[in-house]
Amino acid sequence: RHPHIRLSADIYAPQRRNSAGVEFGDAAALAALTEKSAATPNRRWAAGETRTPRKIRSPIDGAVIGEVREASPADCTAAIDRAARAFPAWNARTIDARAAMLERTADAIEASRDLLVLLQLEGGKTLDDAVAEIREAVDFCRYYAAEARTSLTPQTLPGPTGETNVLRHRGRGVFLCISPWNFPLAIFLGQVSAALVAGNTVIAKPAEQTPLIAAEALRLLHAAGVPADVVQLVAGDGAVGASLVADRRVAGVAFTGSTEIAWKINRTLAAKNGPIVPLIAETGGINAMIVDSTALPEQVTDDVVTSAFRSAGQRCSALRLLCLQADIADHMLTMIEGATAELKLGDPRDASTHIGPVIDADARDHLARKIAAGRLRFRHPGKGVAGGTYVAPAILEIDTASDLTEEVFGPVLHVVRYRAGDLPRVIDAIAATGYGLTLGVHSRIAATAEKIAARLPHGNVYVNRNMIGAVVGTQPFGGSGLSGTGPKAGGPAYLHRFALEQTVTTNT
Ligand code: GLU
Repeated sequence: RHPHIRLSADIYAPQRRNSAGVEFGDAAALAALTEKSAATPNRRWAAGETRTPRKIRSPIDGAVIGEVREASPADCTAAIDRAARAFPAWNARTIDARAAMLERTADAIEASRDLLVLLQLEGGKTLDDAVAEIREAVDFCRYYAAEARTSLTPQTLPGPTGETNVLRHRGRGVFLCISPWNFPLAIFLGQVSAALVAGNTVIAKPAEQTPLIAAEALRLLHAAGVPADVVQLVAGDGAVGASLVADRRVAGVAFTGSTEIAWKINRTLAAKNGPIVPLIAETGGINAMIVDSTALPEQVTDDVVTSAFRSAGQRCSALRLLCLQADIADHMLTMIEGATAELKLGDPRDASTHIGPVIDADARDHLARKIAAGRLRFRHPGKGVAGGTYVAPAILEIDTASDLTEEVFGPVLHVVRYRAGDLPRVIDAIAATGYGLTLGVHSRIAATAEKIAARLPHGNVYVNRNMIGAVVGTQPFGGSGLSGTGPKAGGPAYLHRFALEQTVTTNT
């Protein structure tokens, strides 16, 4: 039995559909959405249950929007105790029962108003990014539910007469899911839903910047029937994450965040000298786009601006290094700068805003230092809202592709020029970064695009389009090398890494 439904000769997909979007050009639809996203005045959110509360401020204007109570080491141990006790019963539930809970969660997310409000207030997301993120979260839940129903169910394998052979999948135990602030709903739920449906109990440790969204998502999972001890939120900073990772009972870790933290987690897991457990890490990238002189300038302009600056550049897929063939570089840069200047920087609750704040003051100050240290070619004139943490898009020039050696996580684009004969050197420099997440190619010569993609290990290659916004089930997402371990999120291999395989051979 093939785990997928056959749609046509060469298209496979589990049986489900991605969620529908909102047509921003339709005035009535946009008005309904804006109304939905309007924050209830003075509403305060809360996450966590123990210890002294810490205030959460919105990156939009610095206003206090809620509070979080972060976990102590004793809270971490107690949460893992509960998760370990809850595991056998949860693992014994049918895949159908677990998948149905994810599907109910997806419906509740789609209907939720609070999640939309929080994605803006706590995450600083523009309205279209918030809508896109809700869709992605919904899609992850439905996709993993559908995948589990097909590819995690027991399969009878061929064997000799006189015995049966069945391959089945079970949960591993207590899975730790550590998620980032840049997709506080979609990546949070993507990790958690995959771990749950595969039969694991889950400790979810959201980023310290975005616990309120996570708490709201957790309420929806519990309301959909997932027992309280089966998925628990443990809020806190990196020290809380570290104490969770160090617990011997952790049977696997899903982590999205920086490469440095992935190394730390890997070292802690290895140092325990206990069971060897999987680490599923999705980390950063120095994502490059190569543009040769055959590319269509208008298309390149739109795709560069979208890839580098939308979502304030705070996607791990975002374009960091633009490599322009020298003969078209000045013309392309003039167009890109003109288009960037047209972007509106400001309050993300305004539907006409393209770029909202970066996540917090640390991020803003770090980016300001990176921009000040570079060779500035262009700076957007915007300032943002008083009290908020805004960074106006910047374009910096460098001499060779190998001059950019670290990921700058924000609306900062580095540009390098290359002469036509130097393309192999550019490809080598991109390979030498050690990262392998997203890669863009703009060329009307198919052989050039294919040659570049074939020489590089990048997990997501985008030819003649932008490089962000991978769609669940359509562009499985994730990289290699310094960018992560795989398997790809939203792809057919993902769930298997969360599950144990058991082969039962019976002499009949
Ligand atoms: N999947 C997202 C995209 O394709 C990026 C995820 C991330 O930033 O971690 O844009």
